[in-house]
Amino acid sequence: MAQWQDGFDREGIDYMFKVVMIGDSGVGKSQLLNRFVRNDFHMKSKATIGVEFLTKTVLMDHKLVKAQIWDTAGQERYQAITTAYYRGATGALLAYDITNRHSFNHIEKWLDELHHHADKNIVVMLVGNKSDLSSIRQVSIEEAEDLAKQKGLFFIETSALDSNNVEPAFLGLLSQIYTKVGKKHI
Ligand code: GDP
Repeated sequence: MAQWQDGFDREGIDYMFKVVMIGDSGVGKSQLLNRFVRNDFHMKSKATIGVEFLTKTVLMDHKLVKAQIWDTAGQERYQAITTAYYRGATGALLAYDITNRHSFNHIEKWLDELHHHADKNIVVMLVGNKSDLSSIRQVSIEEAEDLAKQKGLFFIETSALDSNNVEPAFLGLLSQIYTKVGKKHI
């Protein structure tokens, strides 16, 4: 699967998928997006505050797929994520922090919110972030796998800090969307 630069004009694009980042504040959503799109990481976060979405174009099955990936930019702290955020989304990256059990316990709440606001066919990738801090983890891989299986989600552990599995998380989600709902032209 080849990578392409940002900024393709729409003419070359075969498909466009909207993806939303969700999950508790502080789990690393902005940094995951930053790592995937810009291959960058900031220890002091919120560099991306105010950014509504970033785009990245990838080649998939000989087609150019443009992902428009929306970041909450901190709105979740005030429970202010609007229906507009979810509108048209074909995929969600639902993140928790493996060192923070509360963020994992809230997964069901996020799924409820998703099912309330988003298309019922939305593809969800459950992402356990901060795998570089595995020595202080509060959530095991097995219990996350169990939850994912029970809820019909894809699952992967990542680290935005050291890049572990960040591309597979996003590209895996995009490829599942492509397989499921792919044939919608922009
Ligand atoms: P958001 O509120 O979910 O968007 O979370 P941020 O992306 O703002 O990250 C919250 C904090 O966690 C920041 O201090 C980040 O530097 C840190 N962080 C994010 N991802 C990782 C990671 O993979 N490993 C470690 N150790 N820290 C991370």
